[in-house]
Amino acid sequence: MTQATATATATATALSLQLDEIFNTKPAFAAGANIPLTQQAVSAPDFLDLDDLDSMIADVAIRKADAVKIKHARKLLASEHAQLDAPSRQHLEKMIWDFEVTREWLPVASTLLVDEITCGTCLKHYHITEGVYQRQIARSNSKIDRLIKVKDLLANQDLPKEITYRYSSVALCLACACKEGWDL
Ligand SMILES: [Zn+2]
Repeated sequence: MTQATATATATATALSLQLDEIFNTKPAFAAGANIPLTQQAVSAPDFLDLDDLDSMIADVAIRKADAVKIKHARKLLASEHAQLDAPSRQHLEKMIWDFEVTREWLPVASTLLVDEITCGTCLKHYHITEGVYQRQIARSNSKIDRLIKVKDLLANQDLPKEITYRYSSVALCLACACKEGWDL
């Protein structure tokens, strides 16, 4: 055996020992964890069925086309030059609403928004209903919600009812203003 052959053999043996060590050592994925490699962990994922893949691609294409349509509808509604008649405007608004509640936002409650106004003089609370809203949570993050005013209460008919208060204050209520000399 020549010097060069001996060196190559030693290197190959060292490499083989290192590989043995790597493949025979259980990987620690986190401090304290010692998870063995299993057949399932190292096997390649099953290939998607071609029909599934076709349907996924078609779904993405439809979503993209819908998103483009909605972007265009929003632009039209915002444009001063669009000169939309009332039915066209309603059609576009419904299209955007349907898109939002099926793709982006999930309706969760029919919300009555109530203004609670406190008089800074007599400290009495006055309540005025501000309107009916639909509370929606973002489908991508349930911690984000929003209130959308509903024109048609039918949009809320299957939702649980809730009340949301909005607080503010005034220096004088009507009663206190009368006492202070304003002729109301
Ligand atoms: Zn008052």
